Amino acid sequence: MSVLEVKDLRCSFKVQAQRVFGKQRKDVLDGISYTIHQRETVGILGESGSGKSTIARCITGLLHPDGGSIVFRGLNIFPDTGNRKSIRRKIQMLFQNHTASLNPRMSVKQSLLEALNSQDVSSNKKVDLEKIQDVLDATNLSYDILQRYPRQLSGGQRQRVALARSLLARPELLILDEPTSALDILTQVQILHLVKKLQDERGFAILYITHDVASALEICDRIIVLYRGKIVEDQETSRLLSKPRHPYTKDLLIASGLPEPA
Ligand code: ADP
Ligand code: MG
Repeated sequence: MSVLEVKDLRCSFKVQAQRVFGKQRKDVLDGISYTIHQRETVGILGESGSGKSTIARCITGLLHPDGGSIVFRGLNIFPDTGNRKSIRRKIQMLFQNHTASLNPRMSVKQSLLEALNSQDVSSNKKVDLEKIQDVLDATNLSYDILQRYPRQLSGGQRQRVALARSLLARPELLILDEPTSALDILTQVQILHLVKKLQDERGFAILYITHDVASALEICDRIIVLYRGKIVEDQETSRLLSKPRHPYTKDLLIASGLPEPA
């Protein structure tokens, strides 16, 4: 069963027109269609400004597309028919800027409790603490971190806390929007491996948005390449490596230091 089905998604922004007075619109997404299946890791590759984050913001409802449709587990979330609220927590997003996803005035414990309390299920303190222990274990964080505030954490720890928070919602789709670009290489690799391990255990699908070809090749089952507002490639990772269809994909592979495909 598909987790996410995006059809003919279109999105444009008003921009100040050059030379002429007034505004004109710039197409950022120009008819994007793709499907993500259960347990699948799908990468979206494209250069900066190619519209990757715009796709994520349309899926999470932060942005209204101009047209097309987005279906999550058979339920329309755009155009919205009142389903968004019920599935909101099932789509979780880890942001590029991990400082943005944690409230600086909340301790880690408060932050995790808040994530739990925003769920509709009623629970008690003991169950809450068990759930929090579970996600701390899952993200390799020790319990003493609960009393700390975001400024007292390293970048990697902050990203783990953000991940722990999203796990509390038991997501079916985790969107990673260049989640690790603010971290050093070793920490980046550790976080990505952790997310993949958690996917194995918990079975969510991943949409991995990045401009980093090497990491996409490593963790994705399938890769979509975005170029000038359109999808120019949507292939299994191994096929994309051996038989890229679009010249832009070849350029991306070569620019990342990979040998030119035959
Ligand atoms: P990426 O994540 O691939 O770097 P984005 O999706 O953030 O790209 O942006 C795609 C394009 O849309 C860029 O040219 C960006 O300047 C433009 N854009 C994004 N958000 C807005 C906005 N709110 N208003 C105007 N233009 C925007
Ligand atoms: Mg972006």
